[in-house]
Amino acid sequence: MHNIKRADAILTQAAEDFGTPAYVYFADYIEERIAQIDAAFGSRFTLSYAVKSNPNPGLLSWLETRIANLDISAIGEMRLGVRSGWKPERMSFTGPGKRDLELVEAIEAGLGELIVESVDEAIRANRIAAEAGRVQDIMIRIAPDQVPKGFGDQMAGRPSAFGIDYETMHDEIPQILALKHLRVMGLHVYSGTQCLVSEAICANYRTFMRIFSEISDRYDLKPEKLVFGSGLGIPYFEKDTALDLPATAAGIVDELDELRATPRFSSTELVLELGRYLVGEAGYFLTRVTRVKESRGTRIAICDGGMNNHLPASGNFGMVIHRNYRMHKVGGGTPAGKVNLAGPLCTPLDKIGVGVELPPVEAGDLIAVHSSGAYGLTASPVYFISHDLPCEILVEGGQLQDVTRPLGDICR
Ligand SMILES: *Cc1c(COP(=O)(O)O)cnc(C)c1O
Repeated sequence: MHNIKRADAILTQAAEDFGTPAYVYFADYIEERIAQIDAAFGSRFTLSYAVKSNPNPGLLSWLETRIANLDISAIGEMRLGVRSGWKPERMSFTGPGKRDLELVEAIEAGLGELIVESVDEAIRANRIAAEAGRVQDIMIRIAPDQVPKGFGDQMAGRPSAFGIDYETMHDEIPQILALKHLRVMGLHVYSGTQCLVSEAICANYRTFMRIFSEISDRYDLKPEKLVFGSGLGIPYFEKDTALDLPATAAGIVDELDELRATPRFSSTELVLELGRYLVGEAGYFLTRVTRVKESRGTRIAICDGGMNNHLPASGNFGMVIHRNYRMHKVGGGTPAGKVNLAGPLCTPLDKIGVGVELPPVEAGDLIAVHSSGAYGLTASPVYFISHDLPCEILVEGGQLQDVTRPLGDICR
C-alpha cells in the first residue's frame, strides 16, 4: 500500500525528531481510503468513524472535515470528540452497558443518535430525555441470527452482550416504540469484523437488509438511517490477502439500490460504520532495537516498545495462535535469517515478533510494524511496568505533527 522507501524517510525523521517508541499515522493514506470507499460504493454510504479504533484527538480533529459522523462507545469518547471540534449532534452512541451518568451527559449535550441495545436502556434513556425536556433520536441495534463464515471476530448467532437478539426482537421492539421521549429513526447492526472475503461481507449486508426490511415492514417505519457495521478487514499477517473493495461493492450495490427503490427506504441514509478499514493501514508502530542477544541458538532483538504500547501485535489481544504482524526494518536490506523481537517488559508475553525474517538487526535499528493505526495504543496496557507513553505523530503532506496523548488523559 505505501511506498516503503518514502514511508521510511518519514519514519526515520519521526524517530529522530520525536524519539521512539512511536506511532506514526499517515493522514494522506486515510484520505485515499475515504476516496476509495466513495468510489467503490458510488457514494451510496455515508461514513461513521468508530472512535474506539483510534481515539487520538489529533486524528479526530483531522477527521472532522472528512467524515460525516462519529460513533462513540463511552462518554469519554464523546468528550474527546467534542474537544477535537465535533458537535455531539454528529455522534451516535453504542455500547452494551451505558450507565445513567453517561446517558444524562450525552442526552443533555445534544447527542445525535443513541444506539439502544436493550429495553432496559431504552426505559432509562426515555426517563432521562423526559427530565431534560427532550425527545432523543434513537436507533435500535439488532444482534442478527447469522453471520457468514469469513468473519475473524464473529459475534452473531451466539450468546452476546450486544444489541437486541433477533430471535426475541418482536417482544422488545414494541416496548421501545411505546416510549414517548424516544424517537426511533433508524436501525443498526454491527455483528462481526475483520473480514477479508468479499462474498461474506455481501452476504452479511444481505442479512442486515433482510432484518431492516422485516422490522420496518412490521412496525411501519420509514428509517432515516440504516447503519451497516462494516466488517471490512485489513491485512495484518504475511499470509493475509487484502480485501477486494471494488469486488465487494460490485457484489452488493444492486441490492442496496433495490432497497432504496422501495418507498419505505427512498430517503433513507445508508451508513457504513467502521474503524480499522479507515485508519488501520495508515499507521505504523515504530520501535528501536535496544540490544541484541544470542540465546541458545536464537537471535533476540530487544526493542524499546512492546505489548505495553501494542498489545495486539504481541498476540495477546484475542489471538489464538501467535502470528506476526507484517513488519520491516526501516532502511531495508537483504533478509538474513530469523529473529525474535522482544519488548522491554519483564514478562515472556512481551513479544512483538517470533521468528521474523529480517535483514541483519543490530542495536539502534528501527522496526516498523504495519497495520497499527487501529487498535494499537488504545488497546494496550500502558500502565503495565510504567514506561513512558509512545509518541504519536500525524503526517500530512510530508509534515510531521506531534499529536501525543499525555498519560492519564482519559478526558474526564
Ligand atoms: C468496534 C466497532 C466498530 C468498528 O469496528 P472495526 O472493526 O474497527 O471497523 C463499529 N461499530 C461498532 C458498534 C463497534 O463496536
